[in-house]
Amino acid sequence: MNLILLGAPGAGKGTQAEVICEHLSIPTISTGNIIREALKNGTEMGLRAKSYMDEGKLVPDEVVIGIIQERLAKDDCKNGFILDGFPRTIPQAEALDKMGIVIDKVIDIEVEDEAIVKRMSGRRVCESCGASYHLLYKKPAVEGKCNKCGGTLIQRKDDHPDTVKERLKVYHDQTEPLKDYYAKQGKLKIVNGQEEVADTTRLTLAALEA
Ligand code: AMP
Repeated sequence: MNLILLGAPGAGKGTQAEVICEHLSIPTISTGNIIREALKNGTEMGLRAKSYMDEGKLVPDEVVIGIIQERLAKDDCKNGFILDGFPRTIPQAEALDKMGIVIDKVIDIEVEDEAIVKRMSGRRVCESCGASYHLLYKKPAVEGKCNKCGGTLIQRKDDHPDTVKERLKVYHDQTEPLKDYYAKQGKLKIVNGQEEVADTTRLTLAALEA
């Protein structure tokens, strides 16, 4: 199954992507994680993306489209994949269509802005593998350490409150129109992501069956 996870930054896409990845044994492709990895490795693409990312802005379409094209061509995507954080603009969605990639379902996780700003302040990510945690809702077994790889948990620069507000603005202006784009194709499934993680997970798994 080829899936897209839509939703504002901090809506819980990463957490649900992990659940679906285990449930369906298909890889999660997060453009954000790929860009952060490139930045860590000091590649040209990473350095080019850094200023946009730090300000909460979107990296130019041609950069992320190139990343996705390369990633989707890999063998592990043959039986399906979960896109987390791509597409984020209409031209990105059109690029997927042009590549001949058929999307089966688009799961949109909805959370109000106010709750997002609150949540983001507690979000932590593993600096080694990118797994996400939360100081209140998804604590690691050992404080400050990743359950999966033992890496150090950090707060992303773009999770700071002012940047979060900019990211939400960008989301409403540029990404939210994708809901209409995929609703018109009959692919959009809306999930309420406002309650506990377990509730969102139950609704997400139900949306996969629907
Ligand atoms: P994320 O981890 O998905 O929240 O992405 C972090 C940052 O990476 C975003 O705020 C953007 O600056 C950049 N980014 C990730 N995915 C995309 C995309 N599909 N289009 C443009 N920029 C992106």
